[in-house]
Amino acid sequence: MIRNNYRLLSLTLLCFIAFIHATNSSAQDKKNHTTVILSLDGFRWDYPTKTATPALNRIAHDGVKAVSLIPSFPSKTFPNHYTIATGLVPDHHGLVNNSFYDPKLNKPYSLSNKDARFNPVFYGGEPIWITAQKQGVKTASFFWVGTDVDNLHPDIWKKYNQQTPFPERIDTIVKWLKLPLAERPRLIMAYYHEPDESGHNYGPDDKRTLKTVREMDQMVGKLYQQIKELPNADSINFIIVADHGMGAISSKRNIVLRDYIPKSWPVMIQGGTPNFNIYASGVWKDSAYTALKKAPHIQVWKPAEVPAYLNYGKNQRVGDIIVVADSAWSISLSKAEKEGTGGTHGYDPRNTDMHAIFYAVGPDFKKNYVQPSFQNIHIYPLLAYLLGIQPAKTDGDLQQVIEMVKR
Ligand code: AMP
Ligand code: ZN
Ligand code: ZN
Repeated sequence: MIRNNYRLLSLTLLCFIAFIHATNSSAQDKKNHTTVILSLDGFRWDYPTKTATPALNRIAHDGVKAVSLIPSFPSKTFPNHYTIATGLVPDHHGLVNNSFYDPKLNKPYSLSNKDARFNPVFYGGEPIWITAQKQGVKTASFFWVGTDVDNLHPDIWKKYNQQTPFPERIDTIVKWLKLPLAERPRLIMAYYHEPDESGHNYGPDDKRTLKTVREMDQMVGKLYQQIKELPNADSINFIIVADHGMGAISSKRNIVLRDYIPKSWPVMIQGGTPNFNIYASGVWKDSAYTALKKAPHIQVWKPAEVPAYLNYGKNQRVGDIIVVADSAWSISLSKAEKEGTGGTHGYDPRNTDMHAIFYAVGPDFKKNYVQPSFQNIHIYPLLAYLLGIQPAKTDGDLQQVIEMVKR
């Protein structure tokens, strides 16, 4: 009896030691692993079914592909890149649209307003590169949204310049991956503005957009090949994502805001098709709301009326009235600015045209694994896991994406 108890005790102890060893060695492995995450703006989830994308298909075969990556509302560039970086929905990190107004600061924000764009006061939450830096992990970025903001920089960063050719960005990433170990970043975040631009100009089904999609795929293939040729290739995870998809629009489906809110009214309008945030005071709030409610093909909400699944409306920056067009519809301020035919995004993420891509390959990812569609808030905890660091508290949940990684 005593002997049996002794055996049981030794067995339990052995199992415990083995468990500690396994967790330590996987945390140890992660300390040596590098993650490269590349965002291709507006790369819609199903472009690989519309044209040939051999590089992405190869990555799906060698690693993981998600059915789709679900953007956060509004499905715009700045809100979503910063959601991927922070694990927070736009209402929580504060970039509630590509342009908005902050009533407390009494300041507008927009992509073209450089004072605002570089001002850290607009950027809430803790982006992954800051979490990593705080825990001693070196980080680098080639143009990820937020990385050129004052006092918010990774160790290596660049001021955004859309003209920088894609091949130059790839060569630089490879150069970073070849740095001596002590200088080498273990998190690299990169960005390119296509196929978003072509998608806007021509729409998601046009052959010119699909040509750009193939060119982006070739760039992905080039980077993947160069990563595979590195001596430390088996320690590099490579993730390709997008911020949102792209939906077809037509000049025949356009609502003009000024038809409902005359210019003479003291009402401020921020945003761009199909998302607007409207700021008014006193009786003008109700006048604007009542007038807009009469417009067809758009949704008009007071902040408290926004459907709960959109997680939007608690942040003061959203304004007094939130407007979003129904899918495939555009909104312009005036008749003269009427939106043309092509594509756009910003719509309700339940519209699958807004869904983006997620592909990943490397030592921590399963092979030939298809992950169900998931929300982009879960990428932050995934990155923290890959880097072996403690994540900040966010809206994301590692458990939602844990099946795609090897454990
Ligand atoms: P969107 O209107 O949502 O399609 O925004 C896409 C635009 O955002 C692209 O034309 C990019 O040039 C621009 N963009 C992306 N990242 C940055 C950045 N870090 N700084 C400034 N502009 C950016
Ligand atoms: Zn975008
Ligand atoms: Zn866009």
